[in-house]
Amino acid sequence: MIGKAKTRFFIRTFGCQMNVNDSEKVAGLLRAEGHEPAADPATADFIFVNTCAVREKAADKLYHSLSRLKKLKAERPGLRIGVGGCVAQLEGERILEKARHVDLLVGTHTLHRVPELLREAAGRPAVDLDRKANAFAVPDAAIDHLSPVRAYVTAIEGCNHVCSFCVVPRTRGPEVNRPPDAIVREVEGLVKRGYREVMLLGQTVNAYRFEDLDFADLLARVDVVRGLRRLRFTTSHPEHVTPRLADALRDLDTVCPYLHLPVQSGSDRVLASMRRGYDRRRYLATIALLRDRVPDLSLTSDIIVGYPGETDEEFQETLTLLQDVGFDGLFVFKYSPRPGTTALRLADDVPDEEKSRRLRVLNDHQQRLQRARNEARVGGRDKVLVDTIEPGGASGRTPQLRIVHLPGAGPNALVARLSQPIH
Ligand code: SAM
Repeated sequence: MIGKAKTRFFIRTFGCQMNVNDSEKVAGLLRAEGHEPAADPATADFIFVNTCAVREKAADKLYHSLSRLKKLKAERPGLRIGVGGCVAQLEGERILEKARHVDLLVGTHTLHRVPELLREAAGRPAVDLDRKANAFAVPDAAIDHLSPVRAYVTAIEGCNHVCSFCVVPRTRGPEVNRPPDAIVREVEGLVKRGYREVMLLGQTVNAYRFEDLDFADLLARVDVVRGLRRLRFTTSHPEHVTPRLADALRDLDTVCPYLHLPVQSGSDRVLASMRRGYDRRRYLATIALLRDRVPDLSLTSDIIVGYPGETDEEFQETLTLLQDVGFDGLFVFKYSPRPGTTALRLADDVPDEEKSRRLRVLNDHQQRLQRARNEARVGGRDKVLVDTIEPGGASGRTPQLRIVHLPGAGPNALVARLSQPIH
């Protein structure tokens, strides 16, 4: 039963950290009204699908998910289904036409209205897709962070860039910078609740600007929150990497030597067509600046293969870029035409098998390079923030975000170690 009676809810999340954080907000708001999380969809009264529109495959996943839920709803007519996030913002009420069993629809800026709309959705769907709504409306204390040690904190919503392939500015709208005092207050609250690591989020987080404060200033403000051990941020855009940001990575105690800096391609022709605002030489100069000031910096990146017109030669330029930079991790995606983007005017002319081949070649090459980089660290020492403890052992992350498994370090061993003072 929905209404005054309490429901058990299940949230399915697709996409990036921002979507994960949005789902944490929805979960927290539902809990604050007394609803309880269900262990799986089969035992839930309300299922909420938080969607991602970045690639076509991601959008398709929504409709697959909805067709499975249709069967579930036929068996249990009391079940309510909600859809939110980027696909909802993009497709709007078309979702209700394609999937008549959907009861609730919210966009990227109206997720905070889910509990209220759930009450309203009786007999007809409740919809709020207003993109002008306040994206920071959820009270900090209501956010139900998934990890017990690491919390996401929103710094910027939306994106002002005009990358030819990217749908995000259309779904999440232009940048809205959150006031620094609100960010610091949220971090202080998290530390009081026991969190040791914070990741500041934004589609282009290092474009942050509030009055005369830039992103390096924001990091300095958060760095001094007492009790905070680690500060990270994602996603950064190469255009907004400044010497001041490199200094902040080097000098601020809590700021981890880790940067996710999507390059997208190693070819100047492709980068110009993508409207990324830098060429290969400038990207490499940015990396040189960062490594000069932060020698142990760990760098990860995103690459798109099979962008319209990408020749084999241009692809080879991306392959050699991996060698030139030495990334510590890489996410490779096959180009996917998205509605409302300028690249849609270009022919999607690289066949899918060729996109798959390029993706495989890049991943294999990266694996070899990454293995060598990891092997060079064997015998070294690192601080690990443990985030998972299981009977057989534990695992956690180094400041560079490398995963470290600690076999045999079960709960008892760790409790024994942690009963000693931590330095
Ligand atoms: N705002 C960040 C940026 O621009 O660097 C990240 C945006 S997106 C959520 C994450 C990654 O998905 C991008 O860096 C890009 O590599 C990839 N991506 C975005 N649009 C794509 C498309 N149309 N086809 C394939 N991959 C895409």
